[in-house]
Amino acid sequence: MQIKVTPLGAGQDVGKSCILVTIGGKNIMLDCGMHPGYNDERRFPDFRYISKEGNFTGLIDLVIISHFHLDHCGSLPYFTEVLGYDGPMYATHPTKAIMPILLEDYRKISVERRGVEEKDMFSSQQIKDCMMKVTPCALEETIMIEEDFEIRPYYAGHVLGAAMFYIRVGQQSILYTGDYNMTPDRHLGSARCDKLRPDLLITESTYATTIRESKRWRERDMLNQVSECVRNGGKVLIPVFALGRAQELCLLLDAFWERTGLKVPIYFSAGLTEKANLYYKMYISWTNQKIKDTFVKRNVFDFQHIQPFDRAFIDRPGPMVLFATPGMLHGGLSMEVFKKWAPSDKNLVIMPGYCVAGTLGHKVLSNGGKPQIIDMPRDEGGGKLHVRCKIKHLSFSAHADAKGIMTLIKQAISVDPVNVMLVHGERHKMEALKERIKTEFGLPCYDPANGATTYITTFHGVPVQLSTRSATCSRFPGWAVESDP
Ligand SMILES: [Zn+2]
Repeated sequence: MQIKVTPLGAGQDVGKSCILVTIGGKNIMLDCGMHPGYNDERRFPDFRYISKEGNFTGLIDLVIISHFHLDHCGSLPYFTEVLGYDGPMYATHPTKAIMPILLEDYRKISVERRGVEEKDMFSSQQIKDCMMKVTPCALEETIMIEEDFEIRPYYAGHVLGAAMFYIRVGQQSILYTGDYNMTPDRHLGSARCDKLRPDLLITESTYATTIRESKRWRERDMLNQVSECVRNGGKVLIPVFALGRAQELCLLLDAFWERTGLKVPIYFSAGLTEKANLYYKMYISWTNQKIKDTFVKRNVFDFQHIQPFDRAFIDRPGPMVLFATPGMLHGGLSMEVFKKWAPSDKNLVIMPGYCVAGTLGHKVLSNGGKPQIIDMPRDEGGGKLHVRCKIKHLSFSAHADAKGIMTLIKQAISVDPVNVMLVHGERHKMEALKERIKTEFGLPCYDPANGATTYITTFHGVPVQLSTRSATCSRFPGWAVESDP
């Protein structure tokens, strides 16, 4: 018996997660994401690989969306409404609720600002139509897709609603992690699953070689920097994405202001963030135990010291702290404010996340935070900007680090033979982790590139079939021409 896996995206890369798995004769698509680094057709997975003629409903038996980040769900409306897939799709309740907000934001930016034609993208209506077809599921609920074909989501931490999915068809099974976090943070718990003993564990590996310093140290560092800046009369800009780190850092600052009695105003840019906080309040059961316990007294997402921001405040004198979107300074309010505040050496910009090459955030971070003159992007008015403010990069990313990945492997797997596959990471780092998994656990480990098919033989008391290629190729014409590493 074999399991066949082909990443269409996230193979030795971060972006457009989309992994095709054939297990027990069922074809499953794990995530259907977009690539944030591209504006052309490379932003979506190459679905022609599955079929050049369409008929995706006949070819794919199930689509699973692990969480609402666009690199995991950003091409779903295109796959269903433009390419016509109409089969079963599952996501957790919060993912289903929050996904359309991010998809609409992504559509708007692509069509209205980046000049992508709507026909190459999807419309607002198509997002709505697509979402209607997604079946929501609860944590640890076993869902029978068909007879002897079941799925079960497990808590993944990472962002609200994120889930790992256990999938079993007949005797074969896999666990797909999506993105996950093995250490709890201020608003979410850590990933957890049963001893599932899957034949194959497909895990993200964003931080394949990193062991992160303690979160407490990072938090203290951030609070020191912020309070020093505002006490000296400076302004602090924290570019964030609307969901995830924004809530985490709002909780951190709100509690600190409460403790220290600081009176300096904290703002967050309205719109997306407000809507996002609403969802965090609504899905309080998905957050960590401490937040659930406090909930009886008050909902911590009703921030005491944080108010909505008005554009007129940009030029206000005196200290303030502002959370503004987007997180990589690539447009919107965060860039607008950056232009105004960056020339003063009194001010501070804290970058709490990863910045993709090509964004202003990446440029700002690239010289280690020293003063510099930056050429502003032409579609943002161009010109030169003298950056004299302090720039601080603090990683608050919610991915498992190398230690976390090894812990999950230990937790999920207890008997041989099982296999591990790495996706959603950088090639050379994955290579290092792969070797470590092989030597420390003695497990076969794979890290296929996009488009490369891996065949994994499983043993369940039946004779081993060395190749089922001809049998499956008739269903996936595109797969026949691909290599078999
Ligand atoms: Zn994610």
